[in-house]
Amino acid sequence: MDSRTAAHVLSKIAAYLELKGENTFKCRAYLGAAKGLLALGADDLTPLFRSGELERVRGLGPATLAVIRDLVEFGESRYLEQLRESTPEGLLEMLDVPGLSADKIRKIHDGLGLETLEELEAAARDGRLASLPRFGPKTAQRILKGIAFLRDKGSLRLHHHALVEAAQLVAMVGQHPDIERVEVAGDIRRHCEVAASVVLVAACRRAPAETAQSFTRVPGVRHAEGAGASIVIRFVDGARLDLHCVELTQFGVALWRETGSAAHVADVRERLARRGLRIDNDWLRDGGGRIVPAPDETVLYQAAGLAFVEPELREAMGETDAAEHGGLPNLIEPTAIRGALHCHSHYSDGKASVREMADAARERGWSYIGISDHSQSAFYAGGLPPERILAQHEEIDELNTRLRDFHVLKGIEADILADGRLDYSADILDRFDYVTGSIHSRFAMDGATMTERVLSALDDPHLTILGHPTGRLLLAREPYAIDVDAVLEKARAVGAAVELNADPHRLDLDWRHLRRAKTLGVSVAIGPDAHSVNGLDTVNGGVAIARKAWLEARDVLNARAAEDVLAFARARRTAKGVA
Ligand SMILES: [Zn+2]
Ligand SMILES: [Zn+2]
Repeated sequence: MDSRTAAHVLSKIAAYLELKGENTFKCRAYLGAAKGLLALGADDLTPLFRSGELERVRGLGPATLAVIRDLVEFGESRYLEQLRESTPEGLLEMLDVPGLSADKIRKIHDGLGLETLEELEAAARDGRLASLPRFGPKTAQRILKGIAFLRDKGSLRLHHHALVEAAQLVAMVGQHPDIERVEVAGDIRRHCEVAASVVLVAACRRAPAETAQSFTRVPGVRHAEGAGASIVIRFVDGARLDLHCVELTQFGVALWRETGSAAHVADVRERLARRGLRIDNDWLRDGGGRIVPAPDETVLYQAAGLAFVEPELREAMGETDAAEHGGLPNLIEPTAIRGALHCHSHYSDGKASVREMADAARERGWSYIGISDHSQSAFYAGGLPPERILAQHEEIDELNTRLRDFHVLKGIEADILADGRLDYSADILDRFDYVTGSIHSRFAMDGATMTERVLSALDDPHLTILGHPTGRLLLAREPYAIDVDAVLEKARAVGAAVELNADPHRLDLDWRHLRRAKTLGVSVAIGPDAHSVNGLDTVNGGVAIARKAWLEARDVLNARAAEDVLAFARARRTAKGVA
């Protein structure tokens, strides 16, 4: 029994327990155990189980170890089988529908006897769902949308999940005795916000086809298809690996081709053709048909007359022209970040104190942190009434007198109310070093009203940064209807910054819009939206997306010194006669 299969069993148990309405701690225990096992990455759990080593793995307790005992001894879990018998499989699928909680699924099942996604869809269409107590036509509509969304994007994974997955697969493939070199390609290498599969390119010592085939026997594999050196492997938990085994002299070409995007590859291929070169089965050949060894991509770009194009830029959005004429951006590096401006503390819904957040920011090499807790209207998130703000500011002042070479800034994440006003009166807003304005309610407005709401918030000179500007939750909630171009134009006119919220579920603004922000000269704040000390690290994923948007350090507000951030906010407040 390998750890991937065992982890899959444990997370299925967690899902069934959720559907049965078991308490959340119990469900989380199974999920935590699954995570611990995945991180372990063992091909065979049996010896680890027998020696008692598993008992020391994080997240494993008596109940979850009992499941593993079953798996090791019988190859299946009796507990999972019991749960499976008492719960229709279709209900498990319903859990993946955005906006459909386990609680709602139980009501649907008990009230209408629905057991599959298809039945659910039919009931949402013919009005049965809407007739359930506390459902109504709006909920039915939302569920239909959710089902469509799921069909559309069901196989996609968020970038940060895909990255973890890819790292494990690289480690696995790298252990193979015939593999000389292995690298991640595909969407993940291009820093796409979601990825359909993990694509790996591997250089093999022996015939690539043979080596590729040997991976179909890896533990946790459900099936493998494909011919020759390119194989698609599907694992028991639904993960998919595209593995391409090549020779070392093809590696650069294969890596480039498998990284994509298809449009970028076509573009470069055309440039090669103009210079009498061609690609043939991942070989680069010159005019006489001779192989040009290309162990890495630089050979290929050079041959095409281009500067090296970073993978995250390869979207056929002007990068090859720029590479031809020395116009590629000097992309921002994680080390350029000097502080963070979107951080919550335990004053609202964060888990750490102001001091702990400050210490953690300093440990990351930053010289400032802006604490931006929720504002008073966000009662569900412990939003701060004015007297709590005063208390927090006192604490920050006191802290700043003790900290050397480090600064805590007084920020706030103020709700943008339905009419576009910020959540405090001007005399309170004046007390902050800077203000991030975000929408947390009334998402369903039509485009014109929503745009007007945000534009009028931008009219308030207190607003320094527009937080998560479109409200999207990747693979779960579409952005709200809003004219992003109009918002960016306005931000430019009034001197406000927009946020790249680095929460991996958001990555909002989208990189395509950020590119537009850069062109307009609108500054971008990469905000971790940290609710804990570890949450600060999402900034790195934010930088990856910023790079995809062609951003340089000078485009990013929190790549500047604290004094410059303060000056930016002040300039906005004191500017006269803004648009
Ligand atoms: Zn927010
Ligand atoms: Zn926030």
